Amino acid sequence: MVYQSLYRRFRPQTFSEVIGQDHLVAALRNAVVEERVGHAYLLSGPRGTGKTSTARILAKALNCLEPPGDGEPCGNCDSCTNFESGTSMDLVELDAASHRGLDDVRQINRDVALGNPGKRKVYVLDEVHMLTREASNALLKTLEEPPEHVIFVLATTDPQKVLPTIRSRTQHVELTLVPAGLLREHAKEIAERAELQIDSSVVDYVVERGGGSVRDMLSALDQVVTAGGVPEHRGSVDALVDAIVAQDLTESMTAVAEIVAAGVDPKDLAYRSTRKLRDIFLAGAGINSGDSIPEELPDLAEKAGRITKAVNVRALELLGQALVDMRQAPDPRLVLDLALVRLFAGAVEPQAPRKPERSASPAQETGSGPAAQARAALASVKGSEESEASTADSASAPVPPAPPPPPSSDSNVADPPDPMLPASQASDKTPEELSMAQVAKIWEQQALPALSARARARFQAATLVSVSAGQVQFELPNETHRERCEQMKDDIEAVLRKALEAPVRVELTAAREAKPDADSKPIVVTEEEIVDPAEFEASADGGPSSVDRLLDAFPGAVASDDEGNGRG
Ligand SMILES: [Zn+2]
Repeated sequence: MVYQSLYRRFRPQTFSEVIGQDHLVAALRNAVVEERVGHAYLLSGPRGTGKTSTARILAKALNCLEPPGDGEPCGNCDSCTNFESGTSMDLVELDAASHRGLDDVRQINRDVALGNPGKRKVYVLDEVHMLTREASNALLKTLEEPPEHVIFVLATTDPQKVLPTIRSRTQHVELTLVPAGLLREHAKEIAERAELQIDSSVVDYVVERGGGSVRDMLSALDQVVTAGGVPEHRGSVDALVDAIVAQDLTESMTAVAEIVAAGVDPKDLAYRSTRKLRDIFLAGAGINSGDSIPEELPDLAEKAGRITKAVNVRALELLGQALVDMRQAPDPRLVLDLALVRLFAGAVEPQAPRKPERSASPAQETGSGPAAQARAALASVKGSEESEASTADSASAPVPPAPPPPPSSDSNVADPPDPMLPASQASDKTPEELSMAQVAKIWEQQALPALSARARARFQAATLVSVSAGQVQFELPNETHRERCEQMKDDIEAVLRKALEAPVRVELTAAREAKPDADSKPIVVTEEEIVDPAEFEASADGGPSSVDRLLDAFPGAVASDDEGNGRG
């Protein structure tokens, strides 16, 4: 017997079996009951959250010969049986990723005009954003005047790339990642139905691997079953996260080397570590991200107590950016290693000008300089999907991939500026004797935390670009931001003077902004988007506004029942 994956075996057959998409399911069931189903739906959401499963159930319910009246299919009639065996003529599924041309859509348009055996014929076009522009326009014509019996369900992971004219012809419903609690229940239920003996460590593992996707969670469960248990490197994300919390570069890079050697994909490692660091950040404010189980919270809060919030935020920024860069990189592990070097070495950039002209902005022709990276990182921390969407063209043609990051020589990895030098050891020197790495470390660990909440929020986006002759130069994302920071220069100089125990002049420059063109919109970082951890501390007595802001910054997070947990 051919082994069938758990995902296929236990694919939902009724609306009530679809997990975590209550608003969508309720709307579709009502539409079926009241016989006012639309002619075209656009279902968007992350992979494995139930888009095509829901489309199939809709088709089944609409064609059910003995509908029970609650909007669900009966599951027993001839039509339902045909759907479940995959032989129904009333459902046409097309993967637009592999059938993206004009001829494919023309074929659909010809089919649509024909009658069909059932009541309604449902066309499911998966990954519809992959259609070429010509194909999209051809589809649009049919969407404008669809035959009475035809319903289109368009599914996409990237709705911003779907032609706006197509979007406007459809009812657009967004599916969301499934919360960890629901995934846990589902994992247990599937294991029971499949008669698999699994303990809670397996459930923890597959839920973490799922990352909100039912399909990914069940794939992980398949792998555990095949391998006969949770892989030995299961705890290894913790090894990397622990090393980051301890702010130990050598340990961090050793952890990466060992975990990757054990067969873990560097992208997966970076993704899971980033989620964990986010959970630690939130746990420090007494908030459960929604991905953590209650038993984990004390451990997360303990870690939050050992890492400064500035380093935690910086780690999120850099790993978030690494996740974006890894997509195009020939060697994803190197991207992760370099992110760790940057994290502990401060804002050191191999190409950063050491002694730029005082009046001129640092050379930045490609828009990939430190400030541009910081902007992208800030956007990516809020969700890499969002950042991609905000830069994506709305045309159906895929955006050409960005060039891979310039290859970095091995010496950058093997011989980073010594970031481990304790601040106390450095503090008896004047700034000209200090390396960028040392100043960056002092800036992150002593100066930044000593600033007022307001100043810190503004300077969070500052990138240290040079240190020379008693002068420290920062680059801000744009001129407006620089002007705002200029007003606080005296405060910054005072704080730095105290931290460095030497007179210091601060110079502020603005990054030259990338020209907006047809293919990309600049990512604008406003002050409001910068998460300032200090403001959460400042209102530690439980002001609701800080929690609200945090929830805004991390969509999908839920406040923990135990608000005092981990605070202070
Ligand atoms: Zn039926």
